[in-house]
Amino acid sequence: MDTPLDHYGSFINGEFTDIGIGEIDVTNPGTGETTTSLTEAGRPGVVAAVKSAESAAEDWADVDPAERGELLRSVAEILRENNERLAKLKTVENGAPHSDALQLVEGAAKYFEYYAGLTDKIEGETIPVPGNRLDYTQREPLGVTGHIIPWNAPLTLCARSIAPALACGNTVVAKPSPLAPITVLEAARYASMAGIPDGVFNVVPGEGQRTGEPLTEDNRVAKYVFTGSVDSGIKVMKSAAENVVPVTAELGGKNPAIVFQDADVEKAADDLAKAFWLAGQVCFAPTKIYIHDDIYSEFQRALIERTEGLTVGPGEEDPDVGPVISANAVERIEEYVSEAVKSGATVHTGGEQVQGSGHFFAPTLIDGVSDDAPISCEEVFGPVVATYRFENEAEAVKRANDTKYGLYGVVWTDNLARAHRVAGDLEAGSIAVNEYPATFPQAPFGGYKKSGIGREKGQQAVEHFTQIKNITISLE
Ligand code: NAD
Repeated sequence: MDTPLDHYGSFINGEFTDIGIGEIDVTNPGTGETTTSLTEAGRPGVVAAVKSAESAAEDWADVDPAERGELLRSVAEILRENNERLAKLKTVENGAPHSDALQLVEGAAKYFEYYAGLTDKIEGETIPVPGNRLDYTQREPLGVTGHIIPWNAPLTLCARSIAPALACGNTVVAKPSPLAPITVLEAARYASMAGIPDGVFNVVPGEGQRTGEPLTEDNRVAKYVFTGSVDSGIKVMKSAAENVVPVTAELGGKNPAIVFQDADVEKAADDLAKAFWLAGQVCFAPTKIYIHDDIYSEFQRALIERTEGLTVGPGEEDPDVGPVISANAVERIEEYVSEAVKSGATVHTGGEQVQGSGHFFAPTLIDGVSDDAPISCEEVFGPVVATYRFENEAEAVKRANDTKYGLYGVVWTDNLARAHRVAGDLEAGSIAVNEYPATFPQAPFGGYKKSGIGREKGQQAVEHFTQIKNITISLE
């Protein structure tokens, strides 16, 4: 069966339930068709899910770490065994083109696999304190962790934070966006089939205020991971502060790429055209490209050629670029572009909606915008890339850093010293040199400035999902 269930509810204590506050339809943004219906969890669903996670917490924390690792490995396996189905569900929930959806399912499996290998490597230290004492630390789970997930890559992003949370011995309540909840609900169901005990991985689908806020207000939750916009992230952090609970915040980005005069222009254009991946609805997409004056025209021509070659359509047709999430998103993107044009920008390709039964915007390349224009400063979260000329390295770095965000940066140069220097100078949590994209479960990811707090992925995630206890034993 490659279709979603006819109806979903919260996944609590190992099964779907209809505890909740009302019905929501999930719509395929590529076709406009209703995909499935959903009982929104609301406060009653959240209360039940947190209770279930709390009841399961002690036993899960006591599972032998190596056995926890085996269970997480089984989750990776079951996701892979069902990758075709999960990819199709991804397409009908948020429009992702089929090949991209398959890649995202594999990305989710890789997180479970990576953290499966870490469960028995979560270590403490011995500390040389004065006197005849043994002083050591141990890392303990936090308890129930809350995971708030956006719609753009829900399965991968849920795996990114849930796999390490489980690896460290925590239980989970995940709240996906009502726009794209299916693959997160299915991930919990598959995890349960793979042997994750009931109550360890719960999911409460629903809207931010009605379901997200009750989760952030629940004083039984010991930690949140929020992935989404800056504005919602601030609200989540304020709410969590009331209960003195930490938040890892993975927020938006307005990411620069700098292409120097010694770059491989063809390769840089091939890779930077991937900024249109998932219709530009990617937090780390390099949507502001600074190009050295000497190669500006050559690079721009190469990028226009790539962009004009991109196919656009519903995810089921496996185009290069799928739909954007909603009619509102099309309108918002259109506004950014028309405002830029009114201020003197030139649209080199795209710049308008693509007609169809879903919500499409043509991959768009513009230039002639000022550094302080809204399209240069704000996250458009659509298939729009702006290019800018620069004359020297110091200027490029200064302009690239002139943003409230700091999630990701790309540097293109054949000069090794310059690559190191500029990568060091850019104010962002991750820098890729001479390729895009380059992100891996093993390497930490997170934002400088308003792009977030804390790091996910890699061994750094263990810091966020455990607390340290120090123990001193008198040996007198
Ligand atoms: P959003 O902030 O509108 O929603 C994100 C999630 O938060 C959703 O599940 C939503 O229902 C929930 N939410 C909203 N208000 C809430 C509240 N007050 N309390 C609790 N939950 C609340 O973001 P979105 O439109 O779903 O996603 C797009 C944004 O996510 C972009 O800004 C993008 O850059 C960012 N993002 C960041 C990363 C990253 O790793 N840094 C990854 C993907 C997306």
